[in-house]
Amino acid sequence: MSRIVLSASGLRKSYGGQMVVDGVDLAIGKGECFGLLGPNGAGKTTTLRLLLGLIEPDSGSLALLGHTVPGQAREARLRVGVVPQMDNLDPDFTVEENLLVYGRYFGMPDAEIEARIPALLAFANLEHKRDVRIPALSGGMKRRLTLARALVNDPDMIFLDEPTTGLDPQARHLIWQRLRELTQQGKTLLLTTHFMDEAERLCHRLAVLDHGRIISTGSPRDLIERTIEPQVVEVFGENVEQWAHQHAALYATRFEVSGETAFCYVSDAQPLLEHLQGQGDLRYLHRPANLEDVFLKLTGREMRE
Ligand code: ADP
Repeated sequence: MSRIVLSASGLRKSYGGQMVVDGVDLAIGKGECFGLLGPNGAGKTTTLRLLLGLIEPDSGSLALLGHTVPGQAREARLRVGVVPQMDNLDPDFTVEENLLVYGRYFGMPDAEIEARIPALLAFANLEHKRDVRIPALSGGMKRRLTLARALVNDPDMIFLDEPTTGLDPQARHLIWQRLRELTQQGKTLLLTTHFMDEAERLCHRLAVLDHGRIISTGSPRDLIERTIEPQVVEVFGENVEQWAHQHAALYATRFEVSGETAFCYVSDAQPLLEHLQGQGDLRYLHRPANLEDVFLKLTGREMRE
């Protein structure tokens, strides 16, 4: 791996006797996009807050951009950008003023921030909104501005907590394109997401977190190959449960019934597809296995909250 910009070893944090982060080890290289996945309550946000030095670990050690955290977190954060889960732009200010005010938090002189504003607006596709106040922006525009704002100090590493939640497909694609541009420039990204397609497209490597522990890690392709059969046949219909218990095991290495769908995991789908052609009341979808299949196998299908 290229130069390590973030490393954590044995990070632990508990609240009221509950271990929320339970021995997390991470090493992230320069220019990597690293994804942190996990069901609600898995400990993702707490891990991000530990990595940024916003809370103190009970134990473990951590270095961010050459600074130990939390001891030198302030110095590290000068070289870091943060895109929080909820947009916290200042509604009383215009687009430009939001960038200016944020830059001042880093101690940047106004002239330096102003010199960066045209490039930041271009990055966010917001040149035409420079003097507009925040309530007049769409959700996608606000997200783009929050991302541009996180770049005001030209950070080496950017933390993004669910960067595309609540956006429509067009807006998500634009954010993805921008995030790829950032890694191409050598910036390092750490993001959390609930969207497995987002993680599969963007992340070079991922860690799946559950109950505060990393239960699997690797590239999206590695995780899929290691964890799951290569093909999936989803079978739908009213009597699918009965069908699955009589037939699925004959064709599938593994199957799960969830509601009115049987997920059949197979190495060779052909015999199952031939069988299904004779089952008039069932519909089906044949597709390659993806990261969502991996995630559900590792963390289960039950709701967490
Ligand atoms: P995720 O981001 O994966 O949804 P979080 O890190 O937000 O998970 O939360 C993990 C667990 O830690 C949850 O059970 C949450 O209630 C608990 N938790 C997080 N922060 C605090 C806190 N400040 N005080 C008490 N419990 C907390």
